[in-house]
Amino acid sequence: MTQHKTRHHYIRDVLKIVKQRNHSEPVFIQAVNEVLETLGNVVEEHPEIEEQNLLERLCEPERQLIFRVAWKDDSGHVRVNRGFRTEFSSVLGPYKGGLRFHPNVNMGVIKFLGFEQIFKNSLTGLSIGGAKGGADFDPEGKSEDEVMRFCQAFMNELFRHIGPKKDVPAGDMGVGAREIGYLFGQYKKLTNQYEMGVLTGKGVGWGGSLARKEATGYGVVYYANEMLKARGESLKGKRCIVSGAGNVALYTIQKLQQLGANVVACSDITGTVVQKNGIDWEKLRMVSEDERKHVNYFAEITPDSEFCLGGKVWEVPCDYAFPCATQNELDDTDAADLVANGCKMVCEGANMPCTSEALDVFREADVLIGPAKAANAGGVAVSALEMQQNAGLERWSFEEVDDQLQTIMKSIFETCVHCANKYSTKEDYIAGANIGGFLRVAQAMLSFGI
Ligand code: GLU
Repeated sequence: MTQHKTRHHYIRDVLKIVKQRNHSEPVFIQAVNEVLETLGNVVEEHPEIEEQNLLERLCEPERQLIFRVAWKDDSGHVRVNRGFRTEFSSVLGPYKGGLRFHPNVNMGVIKFLGFEQIFKNSLTGLSIGGAKGGADFDPEGKSEDEVMRFCQAFMNELFRHIGPKKDVPAGDMGVGAREIGYLFGQYKKLTNQYEMGVLTGKGVGWGGSLARKEATGYGVVYYANEMLKARGESLKGKRCIVSGAGNVALYTIQKLQQLGANVVACSDITGTVVQKNGIDWEKLRMVSEDERKHVNYFAEITPDSEFCLGGKVWEVPCDYAFPCATQNELDDTDAADLVANGCKMVCEGANMPCTSEALDVFREADVLIGPAKAANAGGVAVSALEMQQNAGLERWSFEEVDDQLQTIMKSIFETCVHCANKYSTKEDYIAGANIGGFLRVAQAMLSFGI
């Protein structure tokens, strides 16, 4: 698999501007660079992209919000966090994207995530623009009450900027159904309106969609399965490793197991747990979802497992790897370990989990790569299905949503294949996803004028 790195003069110029404008935001620059470097042939073929300066326009968010979130902790101290919302692009629909609560959140992180969201959302074929938000709040070790007060304080500012036809946040790291509940409750109080479609990832009893919780992880596996099918291979009996033990990882593991793969290891901030005959999924779910504990605890209560404190999951031999934790979690050394141990496919569940250098190692070794923008689009796709159900006051069955998710993931894969073949090389799904996502946005931008 060779990555064509045609650096069209226009792309070079835009990259230079983006780097200057955002010099203190390396992850955002990384995300932009990874997209733009794959657009050479598209820019070549469609001169209107340069004529209308689409790329520079696309790399500048339509609107960015930074706000103070003041709240009281359990000991009565007033704490201050910084809240963000980047409303990146609304050409395909209302701004759409998750909220991340994590101590490493800053404007650059939110911008990189919002930028990726534009292409991801476009690939789903649904009417959703791109956005992302969050706060540098660390949910780790906070009490239930503290989380509630923080969510309420966060919404006290955010509510004036969002709405079902304007901007529709959802969860991301540190924000699950519990947080969405507190956020929705506060939005409802502040607006005196039951606007179900203002947030997605809601509880299934009050406007949430069945299969939304499972959607990102299931989608990752559906996408991986399509890539393998195209090579005449399958997941059956294959050793898989999954990083992360949060929502995405959890449902990636479950679907992998349902499709006959053997998930031998997973990991989180505490370390890596190996269970040679397959991770005990129900126990992992209980530890992660019900008890909000980590894999070190899972290992403690699982006698046939081995735990490596602080250990990296990438050192465990596998056929296929699924990075489902966070950005830049897998570097070139990890990639080299995976290749040396015979890994043949990497499918990204997290957003931008592989560093650029790691991707180069994989390309060199002909490892199949499922890019995040395509592979993890299932979550936001089902969020859009949740918006549809809310708008029509409907409630679809689990099977109905899951069927639609499978259809969407298949169509995303077909878009990636088509665009890779047309503008790059066979199986270059990174280029395929970037180009497929970009073309739909570009066409809409051209239609709307400046
Ligand atoms: N945070 C998820 C993502 O990265 C889901 C966003 C959503 O459902 O709006 O795509």
